[in-house]
Amino acid sequence: MITFTYRYKIKPTKQQIRKFDQYLDICRSVYNFAHGERKAWLESRKSRIDRCSIVSEYIIPADATFPSYKNQAKALTEAKKKFPHLKLVNAQALQQVLKRLDKAWSDFFKIPERGFPRFRSKNRFRSFIFPQLLKNCLDNGRVKLPSIGWIKIRQSRPYPMGFTPKQFQVVRRASGYYLMIVFQSTETVPDPIPGKISLGVDAGIENFIGLSNGKLIKSPRFLRNQLKKLRRLQRQLKNKIKGSNNWLKSVNKIALFHEKVANTRTDWLLKLAHHLCSQADNIFVEDINFNSWSKGLFRKQSLDSGIGSFINQILPFVAWKRGKYFEKVNKDFSSQECPVCRLYTGKKLLHQRIHECQYCNTVLPRDVAASLVIEQRGRIAVGQPVSNQIACGERGAGVLQLTLFDLVTAY
Ligand SMILES: [Zn+2]
Repeated sequence: MITFTYRYKIKPTKQQIRKFDQYLDICRSVYNFAHGERKAWLESRKSRIDRCSIVSEYIIPADATFPSYKNQAKALTEAKKKFPHLKLVNAQALQQVLKRLDKAWSDFFKIPERGFPRFRSKNRFRSFIFPQLLKNCLDNGRVKLPSIGWIKIRQSRPYPMGFTPKQFQVVRRASGYYLMIVFQSTETVPDPIPGKISLGVDAGIENFIGLSNGKLIKSPRFLRNQLKKLRRLQRQLKNKIKGSNNWLKSVNKIALFHEKVANTRTDWLLKLAHHLCSQADNIFVEDINFNSWSKGLFRKQSLDSGIGSFINQILPFVAWKRGKYFEKVNKDFSSQECPVCRLYTGKKLLHQRIHECQYCNTVLPRDVAASLVIEQRGRIAVGQPVSNQIACGERGAGVLQLTLFDLVTAY
């Protein structure tokens, strides 16, 4: 089974925009109500039966079951009789809201770092889903949404051949409305098998990544390059009266700015991933938990460059799409091992940017040395021979500043 999500910008009429906003409002109210119900149930069970809670809680009978997805979906059908405005929204789209809440709750209990689900304000509730589609809902330049009808789209790319659309998601962003279409195909693709040429990729600190072919790719500074502009926009916002029309315009400008930065980042990362994939058959990376990076010392840097999403999502996806073998290898001591003699050379301090081996006198940039170690570990993992003779002279190391233009022409 192959699943792709395609994103298209949609061009709704004024009437359709009103309808979308109404959908979002109703879905959000259902979400918040259902969330409140769950929260109240949980809190009513917090204190022991012979004690009183310090804060006031709802008293919910002891035999009342937890408002699970199933219970809440049943209650929703009942609620529609009492509150007819709920019927304005497509029934399945409304059910999806409860599913989404259910997922947020179960995610929290599985991965507590995600945080407890929150009530959603207007800004934090920006999409709704149609899980079932009508027949022949795709046409050139337009799509048919269940219970809304035909909507014009900007068809920036053709629909994929041999795939059937499974789900629509309407998303509101600062630059307008978008439609995410989930396409599915029942065909299966065999997983890529390891090829001849390997490439080790090391997530660097000073550089974005180091490659085992000796190249270093500089950290992009998408947001940090434009901080001046952001500060100016934020200053403008401060001088406006909160809630006024000009204030709203200003808020939208800042949201647009962030959207543009995010788009530029994704574009660059995708192009870089393609660039790497066209150089090798096997791509090996370190198995790093980037969550701790984004909280620690390199917070600003790693969030701005998007290194975590590059290694964990974009690169594996592009590698799979291009039929390249991708694997994560053990990260331990990758920067403390010498790639040539494979001896332990000791811990490096953060400012030490050069790997200097005291046993074989190899001198390499730190990130390149680490990526060579990663490549060797990857080769061992797939059962390929690893030669000790790394011609360091041939692998001319140097910092490479890739511009978008280089990346476009590279593949
Ligand atoms: Zn050495």
